[in-house]
Amino acid sequence: MSVLLSLGAGRRPRSLALAAILLVVGGTFLWSREHSPGSRTVPAADGCAGRPGAGPCRPGPGATASGGERAPVLRADEACRDVGYLCAALDTARSIVIRHWKDFHGTMVVHVPPPPFEDPATARRLQDAAADGILMWNGQPFPLVVDRDGFRKAQVQVRWTRTLGASRLGVAHTVWSPSTGLEVRSLELSTRNPFDSSRVLDPSQVTLTAAHEMGHALGLPHSDRRGDVMYPKNTARTLSARDYRTVEALYALRDGTRIVH
Ligand SMILES: [Zn+2]
Repeated sequence: MSVLLSLGAGRRPRSLALAAILLVVGGTFLWSREHSPGSRTVPAADGCAGRPGAGPCRPGPGATASGGERAPVLRADEACRDVGYLCAALDTARSIVIRHWKDFHGTMVVHVPPPPFEDPATARRLQDAAADGILMWNGQPFPLVVDRDGFRKAQVQVRWTRTLGASRLGVAHTVWSPSTGLEVRSLELSTRNPFDSSRVLDPSQVTLTAAHEMGHALGLPHSDRRGDVMYPKNTARTLSARDYRTVEALYALRDGTRIVH
């Protein structure tokens, strides 16, 4: 999953955050302002590779949750009560598959270095901003620590780039398999406005992007309501009650569980 920020042709951003929309494409998170108000998340038919935790993809025949044990299949009318936006993708998909970290215990370490190519003061500001966003998920469900120096073994590694190409702001590269559960290869964040690379992103934008991507790194899907960090047009400053409820519901289900209409 990734954060992509894309503009309509020939238009300039006035407020990137307010005009943003996320699209899920190939496990990526797109953030676009080209859409009119009311635009919504569009899940792509990308199969299961790299998808966030609860995505509208179908496991292959015989997919199992663990060691040959077939994952449970639950009915939405039973499994989707009081689960926040965990089942939001079922509005457009016939089924979703729960994908989250499996057999992980203890404290999750996220390495957040400063962006090495920015001046030291800017680098420090953006490093702090990313750490703030990531730590919004502290205790949800795992204790999180940010390692700024890279001395500790990290489960999630932040990498920086000026721009990610096209209109991306960030990318959470994840993989999932029935045996390993969700794993994060890296969490990429950009430092520059994708439409004007001479402009450093506002730290609040980096915080927002880092928080949203870390949500995906934990397995969360997109929210269908404004005010949640995982909403496609994310402008939330803190986790909402639904963000908390959804991550709780996500980890209450067994990894690999399929929910069907
Ligand atoms: Zn997203």
